[in-house]
Amino acid sequence: MKCTRCKDTAVIALPSHNAGFCPECYLLFFERQVEKAIKDKKLFSHDDKILIALSGGKDSLALAWQLKKLGYDVSGLHIDLAIPGSSADARSHVERFCSENRLELYILEMEKMGLPIPEVKKIIKRPVCSVCGKIKRYYFNKFAMDNGFNVLATGHNLDDEVARLFSNVFRWDAAYLGDQGPLLPAENGFVRKVKPLYRMGEFETANLSFLAGIDYGFTPCPYSKGASFTFYKTLMDELEHKQPGRKLNFYEGFLSRGQKAFAKMDREEGQKPTPCLNCGYPTSEDICGVCRIRQILGDS
Ligand SMILES: [Zn+2]
Ligand SMILES: [Zn+2]
Repeated sequence: MKCTRCKDTAVIALPSHNAGFCPECYLLFFERQVEKAIKDKKLFSHDDKILIALSGGKDSLALAWQLKKLGYDVSGLHIDLAIPGSSADARSHVERFCSENRLELYILEMEKMGLPIPEVKKIIKRPVCSVCGKIKRYYFNKFAMDNGFNVLATGHNLDDEVARLFSNVFRWDAAYLGDQGPLLPAENGFVRKVKPLYRMGEFETANLSFLAGIDYGFTPCPYSKGASFTFYKTLMDELEHKQPGRKLNFYEGFLSRGQKAFAKMDREEGQKPTPCLNCGYPTSEDICGVCRIRQILGDS
């Protein structure tokens, strides 16, 4: 197979784009896809101060690498969850990446914040993953707001987004469907949230990381039983295999035709968040989820 762009030998075939690329042209292709996402969806500009949530996995590091290369004003934030057997490894990958790529890095240690995940796990009855996600979202948002960042970027890729969309559609969850997309504008108490990799799948970001020489972590969390939405991802992969390009099509179709309707429905019928009485974070209860976990931890 020959590279679609320069006719050299292609090393990566992308049926979804009906193309194949040599290493050099692949990097260019990836960059253009990310730029297209940023421009088409008006995610941010070179004047914005962007905080990237860095988990240490391939997606968040690929995102940081690409945005830095494009000259955006980016810094990284890593949340050390203090989970034995995975957190130290994730953190070391983030630290090494940031020092090699001269990216400013902030680290929040949940142990020091009084919320080590192993302790949280002991006191809650729900699966810890949902609580862990809640804590991370809370601190990524809070850190950005408190430190003058106006944009929070995450490395969610097309597979993550499509699987989430699929799962939200199955439940016809208007609130979640109305909120889903690569751009969530800032509103009271929330910083603008963006997903610049939404056009690129797992395979594409893994390839970028490989070709860019990014040393990412993949020690799975001992508390999670595999990646989220695994079942939906498998279903969508099968569909994509039979109909290349279907995933991006499905997602873009939702963004242009479905998302606004759900957002409108949620504005009219949904509950408006109010500031947490304790910390001010927007919540649908008096006290936000993170403050409640803190209270239970304090009582135990
Ligand atoms: Zn080429
Ligand atoms: Zn609170």
